[in-house]
Amino acid sequence: MLPVRAVSDKVCWKFESKGRYTAKSAYRQLQNNRTAVAGTSTQLWQKLWNCMVPPKVLNFGWRLFREILPVLSILQARRMDVLNICPHCHSNEESFLHLFVQCPYARNVWLASDLGWLNPGAATWKEWLTGVFQSASKDRAEAMLMLLWSLWSARNQKVWHHHHTPPMGVVLMASRVLHEWLDVKAKPSVSSTHGESAARTWSRPPAGKLKINSDASVIGRTGMIGGGMVCRDSLGSFIAARTWSGNGCMDSLLAEALAFREALTWAVSKRWHSFIIESDSKLLVNAVNSVSYSDDSQLGLIIFDCKSLISEIGNVECRFIYRSANGVAHLLATHSHSLSGYGDWESVPPPFIVDQL
Ligand SMILES: [Zn+2]
Repeated sequence: MLPVRAVSDKVCWKFESKGRYTAKSAYRQLQNNRTAVAGTSTQLWQKLWNCMVPPKVLNFGWRLFREILPVLSILQARRMDVLNICPHCHSNEESFLHLFVQCPYARNVWLASDLGWLNPGAATWKEWLTGVFQSASKDRAEAMLMLLWSLWSARNQKVWHHHHTPPMGVVLMASRVLHEWLDVKAKPSVSSTHGESAARTWSRPPAGKLKINSDASVIGRTGMIGGGMVCRDSLGSFIAARTWSGNGCMDSLLAEALAFREALTWAVSKRWHSFIIESDSKLLVNAVNSVSYSDDSQLGLIIFDCKSLISEIGNVECRFIYRSANGVAHLLATHSHSLSGYGDWESVPPPFIVDQL
């Protein structure tokens, strides 16, 4: 409150009601500050270091919490000559809070995940971190950290390669990277137990059924993609194989989905109506099998096509298998780049897969 009469300026000590400095109040204030800072950061760091996530994600988390990632507001604060505009929405400055929480793109990513959009009204990045991350359970903290990392990867794809990742793609990438890492960590030595070896090696379908294996291959950042698919019967005999190639896709999950749709379309053209179809993309298989999956992105539309084809064909079972069990489809997908358009084989397999059959 301002005084009504003019008085001369003087220095006041704000931690005492009368504005007079006392050593006791200064000491008390110093202690309060130390407890506040140490308390917050210790809990936050403990939460971070307890997360079971890939080392690269933990390293990212450390840089994120220290606020030393090169977001534009940080570069600007260091007096670098950059135009600070969010690469996603183009209507706000890029800060930690905006990029990871408040941007409409970030909102769509959080909403596409199981986590929801948490505390978007936080006033500062620190407030968000302490309010949301620090108070989360271990599982949720891990999922959040993965999603934050995936958001940062999508941001870099946008900035450096002009590649837009649909929100569901960001969510799926977070989940895929975590699960791939957990799979590798949990992977036993070569002599695994019977149950695990069944999932890691290809197995024949039951009598009366066919099995189709599908895989995709993307060549770096060229946008060249290829797919391979192979059909075998309950004796493990080769029935047919196909490869296809195309371009304009740099997202491996999208490529897997395109290959999978191609394999289903191929099955329709062959009039196969009772089969198991396998892919080594767990996310794709989960999305195709999910009853509630809904996403308006390009990926979402292709998954919708796959689901429609499966329900039209009728007796189709869609399964995830490890990469090691998908070797023939993988070889076909890799080989597809040396052919243009489609490659088709019936009854007699192409020479380059014979050893793998
Ligand atoms: Zn934005």
